[in-house]
Amino acid sequence: TATETKNLRTPIVCVMGHVDHGKTSLLDKIRGTAVVNKEAGAITQHIGATEVPLSTIRSLCGNLMSGTVVIPGLLFIDTPGHHAFTTLRSRGGALADLAVLVVDITEGFQPQTIEAIKILKQFKTPFVVAANKIDRIQGWTPTKNGPFILSYNKQPDYVKTAIETRTYELVGKLSDLGFSSDRYDRVRDFTRNVGIVPISAKTGEGIPDLLMVLIGLAQRFLEENLRMTVTGPGVGTVLEVKEERGLGFTIDTILYDGVIKVGDTVVIGGKDKPIVTKIRALLKPAPNREIRVEERFDRVPKLTAAAGVKILAPGLENAVAGSPLRVAKEDSVEAIIKDVEGELEKARIVTDETGIMVKADTLGSLEAIINELRDSGIKVAMAEVGDIARKDVVNAETLPGSLNRVILGFNVQTLVDAKDYLQTSDIKTFNNNIIYKLIEDYEKWQKEQKD
Ligand code: GDP
Ligand code: MG
Repeated sequence: TATETKNLRTPIVCVMGHVDHGKTSLLDKIRGTAVVNKEAGAITQHIGATEVPLSTIRSLCGNLMSGTVVIPGLLFIDTPGHHAFTTLRSRGGALADLAVLVVDITEGFQPQTIEAIKILKQFKTPFVVAANKIDRIQGWTPTKNGPFILSYNKQPDYVKTAIETRTYELVGKLSDLGFSSDRYDRVRDFTRNVGIVPISAKTGEGIPDLLMVLIGLAQRFLEENLRMTVTGPGVGTVLEVKEERGLGFTIDTILYDGVIKVGDTVVIGGKDKPIVTKIRALLKPAPNREIRVEERFDRVPKLTAAAGVKILAPGLENAVAGSPLRVAKEDSVEAIIKDVEGELEKARIVTDETGIMVKADTLGSLEAIINELRDSGIKVAMAEVGDIARKDVVNAETLPGSLNRVILGFNVQTLVDAKDYLQTSDIKTFNNNIIYKLIEDYEKWQKEQKD
Protein backbone atom coordinates (compact mmCIF):
# COMPACT_ATOMS: atom_id res chain seq x y z
CA THR A 1 0.00 0.00 0.00
CA ALA A 2 0.95 3.63 -0.33
CA THR A 3 1.60 4.00 3.40
CA GLU A 4 4.04 1.12 3.35
CA THR A 5 5.93 2.76 0.52
CA LYS A 6 6.20 5.94 2.50
CA ASN A 7 7.63 4.31 5.59
CA LEU A 8 10.37 2.28 3.95
CA ARG A 9 13.77 3.86 4.20
CA THR A 10 15.60 4.51 0.92
CA PRO A 11 18.10 1.68 0.46
CA ILE A 12 21.73 2.77 0.50
CA VAL A 13 23.70 1.59 -2.53
CA CYS A 14 27.47 1.82 -2.42
CA VAL A 15 29.24 2.28 -5.75
CA MET A 16 32.67 0.71 -5.54
CA GLY A 17 35.48 -0.56 -7.72
CA HIS A 18 39.02 0.08 -8.89
CA VAL A 19 40.09 3.67 -9.44
CA ASP A 20 39.24 5.03 -12.92
CA HIS A 21 36.87 2.18 -13.74
CA GLY A 22 33.99 4.68 -13.88
CA LYS A 23 32.21 4.97 -10.52
CA THR A 24 31.82 8.74 -10.64
CA SER A 25 31.00 8.72 -14.37
CA LEU A 26 28.19 6.26 -13.76
CA LEU A 27 26.56 8.49 -11.15
CA ASP A 28 27.18 11.58 -13.30
CA LYS A 29 25.48 9.83 -16.20
CA ILE A 30 22.44 8.88 -14.13
CA ARG A 31 22.17 12.49 -12.93
CA GLY A 32 22.81 13.93 -16.39
CA THR A 33 20.28 11.72 -18.15
CA ALA A 34 17.67 12.56 -15.56
CA VAL A 35 18.35 16.26 -16.17
CA VAL A 36 17.89 15.82 -19.92
CA ASN A 37 14.68 13.89 -19.25
CA LYS A 38 13.51 16.93 -17.24
CA GLU A 39 13.67 14.94 -14.06
CA ALA A 40 16.23 17.32 -12.61
CA GLY A 41 14.15 18.36 -9.66
CA ALA A 42 13.68 14.77 -8.70
CA ILE A 43 17.33 13.96 -8.11
CA THR A 44 18.64 15.23 -4.81
CA GLN A 45 22.30 15.86 -4.30
CA HIS A 46 23.68 14.98 -0.90
CA ILE A 47 27.13 15.25 0.53
CA GLY A 48 28.85 12.12 -0.76
CA ALA A 49 25.63 10.69 -2.12
CA THR A 50 22.97 11.01 -4.82
CA GLU A 51 19.32 10.24 -4.19
CA VAL A 52 17.39 8.89 -7.16
CA PRO A 53 13.66 8.55 -6.49
CA LEU A 54 11.63 5.70 -7.89
CA SER A 55 9.80 7.95 -10.37
CA THR A 56 13.14 8.91 -11.94
CA ILE A 57 14.31 5.32 -12.03
CA ARG A 58 11.06 4.39 -13.74
CA SER A 59 11.52 7.08 -16.36
CA LEU A 60 15.15 6.03 -16.97
CA CYS A 61 14.20 2.37 -17.25
CA GLY A 62 11.33 2.97 -19.65
CA ASN A 63 9.41 -0.20 -20.31
CA LEU A 64 12.10 -2.41 -18.76
CA MET A 65 10.51 -1.95 -15.36
CA SER A 66 7.15 -3.31 -14.44
CA GLY A 67 5.41 -4.58 -11.34
CA THR A 68 4.94 -3.15 -7.90
CA VAL A 69 7.91 -1.56 -6.22
CA VAL A 70 7.69 -0.57 -2.59
CA ILE A 71 11.01 1.18 -2.08
CA PRO A 72 11.00 4.99 -2.46
CA GLY A 73 14.19 5.12 -4.53
CA LEU A 74 17.92 4.53 -4.11
CA LEU A 75 20.62 6.52 -2.32
CA PHE A 76 23.91 6.02 -4.15
CA ILE A 77 27.17 6.57 -2.29
CA ASP A 78 30.27 7.24 -4.37
CA THR A 79 33.10 5.84 -2.26
CA PRO A 80 35.47 8.74 -1.70
CA GLY A 81 38.93 8.46 -3.23
CA HIS A 82 40.68 5.23 -2.44
CA HIS A 83 38.86 4.98 0.85
CA ALA A 84 37.46 1.54 0.53
CA PHE A 85 33.98 0.41 1.23
CA THR A 86 35.33 -0.54 4.64
CA THR A 87 34.68 2.99 5.82
CA LEU A 88 31.02 2.43 5.30
CA ARG A 89 30.02 0.67 8.45
CA SER A 90 26.94 0.81 10.56
CA ARG A 91 26.06 -0.77 13.86
CA GLY A 92 24.86 -3.92 12.14
CA GLY A 93 27.88 -4.34 9.88
CA ALA A 94 27.88 -2.83 6.43
CA LEU A 95 26.32 0.58 6.02
CA ALA A 96 25.28 -0.13 2.44
CA ASP A 97 22.28 -2.32 1.83
CA LEU A 98 23.45 -3.08 -1.71
CA ALA A 99 26.47 -2.41 -3.86
CA VAL A 100 27.34 -1.79 -7.49
CA LEU A 101 30.78 -3.07 -8.32
CA VAL A 102 32.10 -1.16 -11.32
CA VAL A 103 34.66 -3.01 -13.45
CA ASP A 104 36.23 -1.65 -16.63
CA ILE A 105 35.38 -4.45 -19.07
CA THR A 106 38.52 -3.70 -21.09
CA GLU A 107 40.76 -4.07 -18.00
CA GLY A 108 38.97 -6.73 -15.98
CA PHE A 109 39.55 -7.24 -12.27
CA GLN A 110 42.17 -5.07 -10.64
CA PRO A 111 43.47 -5.09 -7.03
CA GLN A 112 40.76 -2.80 -5.67
CA THR A 113 38.07 -4.83 -7.45
CA ILE A 114 39.21 -7.94 -5.62
CA GLU A 115 39.47 -6.06 -2.36
CA ALA A 116 35.93 -4.77 -2.79
CA ILE A 117 34.58 -8.27 -3.44
CA LYS A 118 36.29 -9.68 -0.37
CA ILE A 119 34.66 -7.01 1.74
CA LEU A 120 31.24 -7.55 0.15
CA LYS A 121 31.63 -11.21 0.94
CA GLN A 122 32.61 -10.52 4.53
CA PHE A 123 29.56 -8.32 5.07
CA LYS A 124 27.27 -10.50 2.92
CA THR A 125 26.18 -7.44 0.96
CA PRO A 126 24.17 -8.26 -2.18
CA PHE A 127 25.78 -6.70 -5.25
CA VAL A 128 25.60 -6.37 -8.99
CA VAL A 129 28.59 -6.00 -11.32
CA ALA A 130 28.52 -3.11 -13.80
CA ALA A 131 30.89 -4.15 -16.60
CA ASN A 132 31.63 -0.60 -17.73
CA LYS A 133 33.09 0.99 -20.88
CA ILE A 134 31.48 -1.38 -23.41
CA ASP A 135 31.65 1.52 -25.88
CA ARG A 136 35.41 0.95 -25.94
CA ILE A 137 35.07 -2.56 -27.32
CA GLN A 138 36.41 -2.53 -30.87
CA GLY A 139 33.56 -2.14 -33.36
CA TRP A 140 30.84 -1.24 -30.85
CA THR A 141 28.06 0.94 -32.31
CA PRO A 142 26.29 2.80 -29.54
CA THR A 143 22.58 3.40 -29.02
CA LYS A 144 22.48 6.29 -26.55
CA ASN A 145 20.93 5.54 -23.15
CA GLY A 146 19.31 2.39 -24.48
CA PRO A 147 18.89 -0.94 -22.77
CA PHE A 148 21.92 -3.20 -23.15
CA ILE A 149 20.15 -6.05 -24.89
CA LEU A 150 18.74 -3.75 -27.57
CA SER A 151 22.20 -2.38 -28.36
CA TYR A 152 23.81 -5.79 -28.11
CA ASN A 153 21.46 -7.37 -30.61
CA LYS A 154 22.43 -4.72 -33.17
CA GLN A 155 26.17 -5.46 -32.96
CA PRO A 156 28.04 -7.59 -35.49
CA ASP A 157 28.98 -11.10 -34.34
CA TYR A 158 32.62 -10.32 -33.60
CA VAL A 159 31.56 -7.55 -31.21
CA LYS A 160 29.07 -9.85 -29.52
CA THR A 161 31.82 -12.44 -29.13
CA ALA A 162 34.14 -9.85 -27.62
CA ILE A 163 31.49 -8.89 -25.04
CA GLU A 164 30.79 -12.53 -24.24
CA THR A 165 34.47 -13.40 -23.87
CA ARG A 166 35.11 -10.50 -21.53
CA THR A 167 31.96 -11.22 -19.55
CA TYR A 168 33.11 -14.81 -19.03
CA GLU A 169 36.48 -13.58 -17.86
CA LEU A 170 34.62 -11.73 -15.13
CA VAL A 171 32.54 -14.83 -14.38
CA GLY A 172 35.78 -16.79 -13.96
CA LYS A 173 37.28 -14.21 -11.61
CA LEU A 174 34.10 -14.08 -9.54
CA SER A 175 34.11 -17.85 -9.36
CA ASP A 176 37.69 -17.80 -8.01
CA LEU A 177 36.39 -15.58 -5.23
CA GLY A 178 33.50 -17.88 -4.44
CA PHE A 179 30.64 -16.28 -6.37
CA SER A 180 28.58 -17.85 -9.07
CA SER A 181 27.61 -15.27 -11.68
CA ASP A 182 26.35 -14.73 -15.21
CA ARG A 183 25.21 -11.96 -17.52
CA TYR A 184 22.17 -10.52 -15.76
CA ASP A 185 19.67 -11.53 -18.45
CA ARG A 186 20.65 -15.16 -17.91
CA VAL A 187 20.29 -14.97 -14.13
CA ARG A 188 17.03 -16.34 -12.80
CA ASP A 189 17.68 -16.10 -9.10
CA PHE A 190 19.62 -13.06 -8.00
CA THR A 191 19.80 -14.41 -4.45
CA ARG A 192 22.08 -17.20 -5.72
CA ASN A 193 23.89 -15.65 -8.67
CA VAL A 194 25.57 -12.32 -9.13
CA GLY A 195 24.30 -10.47 -12.21
CA ILE A 196 26.79 -8.82 -14.56
CA VAL A 197 25.35 -5.86 -16.48
CA PRO A 198 27.44 -4.58 -19.39
CA ILE A 199 27.12 -0.79 -19.42
CA SER A 200 28.70 2.38 -20.69
CA ALA A 201 28.79 5.36 -18.38
CA LYS A 202 29.68 7.37 -21.49
CA THR A 203 26.81 6.44 -23.81
CA GLY A 204 24.38 5.48 -21.05
CA GLU A 205 23.77 2.05 -22.54
CA GLY A 206 22.89 -0.61 -20.02
CA ILE A 207 22.07 1.89 -17.28
CA PRO A 208 18.32 1.13 -17.54
CA ASP A 209 19.15 -2.57 -17.11
CA LEU A 210 21.47 -1.85 -14.19
CA LEU A 211 18.83 0.18 -12.37
CA MET A 212 16.25 -2.50 -13.04
CA VAL A 213 18.47 -5.21 -11.56
CA LEU A 214 19.20 -3.00 -8.55
CA ILE A 215 15.54 -2.38 -7.91
CA GLY A 216 14.93 -6.10 -8.20
CA LEU A 217 17.74 -6.82 -5.73
CA ALA A 218 16.44 -4.21 -3.34
CA GLN A 219 12.97 -5.73 -3.49
CA ARG A 220 14.15 -9.30 -3.05
CA PHE A 221 16.63 -8.70 -0.29
CA LEU A 222 15.25 -5.76 1.55
CA GLU A 223 11.51 -5.74 1.44
CA GLU A 224 11.26 -7.58 4.69
CA ASN A 225 14.29 -6.45 6.63
CA LEU A 226 14.80 -2.91 5.49
CA ARG A 227 14.84 -0.65 8.49
CA MET A 228 11.95 1.73 8.64
CA THR A 229 12.64 5.42 8.73
CA VAL A 230 12.03 6.34 12.30
CA THR A 231 11.49 9.77 13.72
CA GLY A 232 13.86 8.96 16.58
CA PRO A 233 17.35 10.36 17.19
CA GLY A 234 19.67 10.24 14.18
CA VAL A 235 22.24 7.50 13.67
CA GLY A 236 24.98 7.73 11.07
CA THR A 237 28.49 6.86 9.95
CA VAL A 238 31.31 9.31 9.36
CA LEU A 239 32.53 9.03 5.76
CA GLU A 240 35.26 11.62 5.83
CA VAL A 241 36.77 14.20 8.14
CA LYS A 242 37.53 17.33 6.12
CA GLU A 243 38.87 20.78 6.77
CA GLU A 244 36.87 23.29 4.72
CA ARG A 245 38.14 26.75 3.96
CA GLY A 246 36.28 29.28 6.08
CA LEU A 247 34.50 26.60 8.10
CA GLY A 248 37.17 24.56 9.84
CA PHE A 249 36.78 20.86 10.48
CA THR A 250 33.63 19.16 9.23
CA ILE A 251 32.47 15.57 8.92
CA ASP A 252 30.77 14.16 5.84
CA THR A 253 28.24 11.76 7.28
CA ILE A 254 25.72 9.27 5.98
CA LEU A 255 22.65 9.36 8.19
CA TYR A 256 21.05 5.93 7.96
CA ASP A 257 18.39 6.18 10.62
CA GLY A 258 16.33 8.83 12.37
CA VAL A 259 16.41 12.60 12.37
CA ILE A 260 19.20 15.11 12.96
CA LYS A 261 18.75 18.83 13.75
CA VAL A 262 20.90 21.91 14.21
CA GLY A 263 21.53 22.31 17.94
CA ASP A 264 21.38 18.55 18.60
CA THR A 265 24.00 17.05 20.86
CA VAL A 266 25.90 14.32 19.02
CA VAL A 267 28.41 11.69 20.08
CA ILE A 268 31.05 10.81 17.47
CA GLY A 269 33.94 8.37 17.48
CA GLY A 270 37.15 10.28 18.23
CA LYS A 271 40.87 9.49 18.14
CA ASP A 272 41.24 8.90 21.87
CA LYS A 273 37.70 9.02 23.15
CA PRO A 274 34.19 9.80 21.92
CA ILE A 275 33.59 13.44 20.99
CA VAL A 276 30.49 15.05 22.49
CA THR A 277 29.53 18.21 20.64
CA LYS A 278 26.63 20.37 19.46
CA ILE A 279 25.72 20.67 15.78
CA ARG A 280 26.30 24.19 14.48
CA ALA A 281 25.23 23.63 10.93
CA LEU A 282 23.96 20.92 8.60
CA LEU A 283 25.27 21.52 5.10
CA LYS A 284 24.01 20.27 1.77
CA PRO A 285 25.60 20.89 -1.61
CA ALA A 286 24.37 24.09 -3.24
CA PRO A 287 22.45 23.22 -6.44
CA ASN A 288 24.32 22.91 -9.72
CA ARG A 289 27.70 22.56 -8.15
CA GLU A 290 29.91 19.55 -8.58
CA ILE A 291 29.68 17.24 -5.64
CA ARG A 292 32.90 17.00 -3.54
CA VAL A 293 34.59 20.00 -5.11
CA GLU A 294 32.07 22.63 -4.10
CA GLU A 295 33.10 25.12 -1.51
CA ARG A 296 29.72 26.57 -0.82
CA PHE A 297 26.85 24.84 0.83
CA ASP A 298 23.24 25.35 1.68
CA ARG A 299 22.31 25.23 5.33
CA VAL A 300 19.37 23.10 6.39
CA PRO A 301 17.77 23.01 9.86
CA LYS A 302 16.92 19.31 9.86
CA LEU A 303 17.41 16.04 7.95
CA THR A 304 15.78 12.63 7.92
CA ALA A 305 17.47 9.33 6.97
CA ALA A 306 18.73 8.17 4.59
CA ALA A 307 20.82 11.19 3.68
CA GLY A 308 24.35 12.41 3.19
CA VAL A 309 25.25 15.60 5.05
CA LYS A 310 28.24 17.71 6.01
CA ILE A 311 28.20 18.52 9.71
CA LEU A 312 29.83 21.54 11.26
CA ALA A 313 30.49 21.41 15.01
CA PRO A 314 33.28 22.27 17.44
CA GLY A 315 35.91 19.62 18.15
CA LEU A 316 35.64 17.64 14.94
CA GLU A 317 39.40 17.68 14.26
CA ASN A 318 39.68 14.47 16.29
CA ALA A 319 36.83 12.64 14.58
CA VAL A 320 37.64 9.28 13.02
CA ALA A 321 36.38 8.29 9.57
CA GLY A 322 34.27 5.17 9.67
CA SER A 323 33.15 5.74 13.22
CA PRO A 324 29.59 6.08 14.46
CA LEU A 325 27.60 9.27 14.96
CA ARG A 326 24.66 9.29 17.34
CA VAL A 327 22.25 12.05 18.28
CA ALA A 328 21.86 12.12 22.06
CA LYS A 329 19.02 13.50 24.12
CA GLU A 330 19.87 15.10 27.46
CA ASP A 331 19.09 11.99 29.50
CA SER A 332 20.81 9.60 27.11
CA VAL A 333 24.21 11.27 26.60
CA GLU A 334 26.05 9.05 29.10
CA ALA A 335 24.55 5.84 27.75
CA ILE A 336 25.34 6.80 24.18
CA ILE A 337 28.93 7.72 25.03
CA LYS A 338 29.26 4.19 26.49
CA ASP A 339 27.76 2.71 23.31
CA VAL A 340 30.13 4.62 21.05
CA GLU A 341 33.08 3.73 23.28
CA GLY A 342 32.03 0.12 22.96
CA GLU A 343 31.94 0.32 19.18
CA LEU A 344 35.38 1.95 19.05
CA GLU A 345 36.72 -0.61 21.49
CA LYS A 346 35.38 -3.50 19.44
CA ALA A 347 37.73 -2.57 16.63
CA ARG A 348 40.68 -2.52 19.00
CA ILE A 349 40.20 -5.49 21.32
CA VAL A 350 40.45 -8.05 18.55
CA THR A 351 44.18 -8.13 19.17
CA ASP A 352 46.33 -11.11 20.06
CA GLU A 353 48.79 -11.38 22.92
CA THR A 354 51.77 -11.45 20.60
CA GLY A 355 51.92 -10.28 17.02
CA ILE A 356 52.54 -7.25 14.82
CA MET A 357 51.24 -3.66 14.86
CA VAL A 358 48.66 -2.38 12.39
CA LYS A 359 47.64 1.20 11.65
CA ALA A 360 44.73 2.04 9.35
CA ASP A 361 42.81 5.09 8.24
CA THR A 362 39.38 4.11 9.48
CA LEU A 363 37.79 1.78 12.00
CA GLY A 364 36.26 -0.25 9.20
CA SER A 365 39.51 -0.72 7.35
CA LEU A 366 41.26 -1.65 10.60
CA GLU A 367 38.69 -4.34 11.23
CA ALA A 368 38.92 -5.59 7.64
CA ILE A 369 42.70 -5.80 7.70
CA ILE A 370 42.78 -7.61 11.04
CA ASN A 371 40.31 -10.15 9.63
CA GLU A 372 42.42 -10.67 6.52
CA LEU A 373 45.61 -11.04 8.59
CA ARG A 374 43.91 -13.59 10.82
CA ASP A 375 42.87 -15.56 7.73
CA SER A 376 46.52 -15.59 6.68
CA GLY A 377 47.59 -16.81 10.13
CA ILE A 378 49.25 -13.52 11.09
CA LYS A 379 48.70 -12.33 14.65
CA VAL A 380 48.07 -8.70 15.56
CA ALA A 381 49.09 -7.41 18.97
CA MET A 382 48.44 -3.70 18.48
CA ALA A 383 45.94 -2.02 16.19
CA GLU A 384 44.89 1.58 15.95
CA VAL A 385 43.37 4.17 13.62
CA GLY A 386 45.74 6.94 12.54
CA ASP A 387 49.04 7.76 10.84
CA ILE A 388 52.25 6.07 11.90
CA ALA A 389 53.71 8.33 14.60
CA ARG A 390 56.90 8.19 16.66
CA LYS A 391 55.03 6.77 19.64
CA ASP A 392 53.86 3.85 17.47
CA VAL A 393 57.42 2.95 16.58
CA VAL A 394 58.40 3.20 20.26
CA ASN A 395 55.49 0.89 21.13
CA ALA A 396 56.34 -1.52 18.33
CA GLU A 397 59.83 -1.87 19.79
CA THR A 398 58.27 -3.62 22.77
CA LEU A 399 56.79 -6.34 20.55
CA PRO A 400 58.42 -9.71 21.26
CA GLY A 401 59.68 -11.83 18.34
CA SER A 402 61.85 -10.43 15.54
CA LEU A 403 59.23 -11.18 12.87
CA ASN A 404 56.65 -9.19 14.83
CA ARG A 405 58.68 -6.01 14.95
CA VAL A 406 56.81 -4.41 12.08
CA ILE A 407 54.09 -1.83 11.51
CA LEU A 408 51.64 -2.41 8.66
CA GLY A 409 50.11 0.88 7.54
CA PHE A 410 46.92 0.81 5.47
CA ASN A 411 46.00 4.11 3.80
CA VAL A 412 48.05 6.06 6.33
CA GLN A 413 51.19 8.18 6.29
CA THR A 414 54.39 7.81 8.20
CA LEU A 415 54.79 11.10 10.06
CA VAL A 416 58.10 12.97 9.97
CA ASP A 417 58.97 12.32 13.63
CA ALA A 418 58.38 8.61 13.04
CA LYS A 419 60.56 8.66 9.91
CA ASP A 420 63.41 10.23 11.88
CA TYR A 421 63.07 7.75 14.68
CA LEU A 422 62.86 4.79 12.26
CA GLN A 423 66.39 5.57 11.01
CA THR A 424 67.86 4.27 14.23
CA SER A 425 65.19 1.69 15.05
CA ASP A 426 65.00 -1.95 13.98
CA ILE A 427 61.26 -1.60 13.36
CA LYS A 428 60.25 -2.19 9.75
CA THR A 429 57.22 -0.43 8.26
CA PHE A 430 55.04 -1.43 5.30
CA ASN A 431 52.60 0.97 3.66
CA ASN A 432 49.99 0.17 1.04
CA ASN A 433 46.45 1.08 0.03
CA ILE A 434 45.54 -2.47 -0.91
CA ILE A 435 45.10 -4.85 2.00
CA TYR A 436 46.24 -8.02 0.31
CA LYS A 437 49.32 -6.33 -1.17
CA LEU A 438 50.26 -5.17 2.29
CA ILE A 439 49.92 -8.72 3.56
CA GLU A 440 51.85 -10.09 0.59
CA ASP A 441 54.70 -7.62 1.18
CA TYR A 442 54.88 -8.57 4.83
CA GLU A 443 54.80 -12.31 4.07
CA LYS A 444 57.56 -11.89 1.51
CA TRP A 445 59.71 -10.06 4.02
CA GLN A 446 58.94 -12.68 6.67
CA LYS A 447 60.14 -15.39 4.30
CA GLU A 448 63.33 -13.49 3.48
CA GLN A 449 64.05 -13.11 7.18
CA LYS A 450 63.60 -16.83 7.77
CA ASP A 451 65.85 -17.84 4.84
P1 GDP B 1 36.31 6.43 -10.89
O1 GDP B 1 37.70 6.65 -10.43
O2 GDP B 1 35.92 4.98 -10.78
O3 GDP B 1 35.29 7.34 -10.29
O4 GDP B 1 36.32 6.68 -12.48
P2 GDP B 1 35.81 7.94 -13.30
O5 GDP B 1 34.33 7.96 -13.35
O6 GDP B 1 36.48 9.16 -12.80
O7 GDP B 1 36.30 7.56 -14.77
C1 GDP B 1 37.65 7.43 -15.09
C2 GDP B 1 37.87 7.73 -16.56
O8 GDP B 1 37.19 6.79 -17.37
C3 GDP B 1 37.33 9.10 -16.98
O9 GDP B 1 38.24 9.65 -17.89
C4 GDP B 1 36.03 8.78 -17.65
O10 GDP B 1 35.68 9.72 -18.62
C5 GDP B 1 36.31 7.43 -18.27
N1 GDP B 1 35.09 6.61 -18.41
C6 GDP B 1 34.25 6.26 -17.41
N2 GDP B 1 33.26 5.49 -17.88
C7 GDP B 1 33.47 5.35 -19.20
C8 GDP B 1 32.79 4.64 -20.27
O11 GDP B 1 31.77 3.98 -20.07
N3 GDP B 1 33.33 4.72 -21.52
C9 GDP B 1 34.47 5.42 -21.78
N4 GDP B 1 34.92 5.42 -23.02
N5 GDP B 1 35.13 6.08 -20.81
C10 GDP B 1 34.65 6.05 -19.55
MG1 MG C 1 35.55 8.74 -8.72
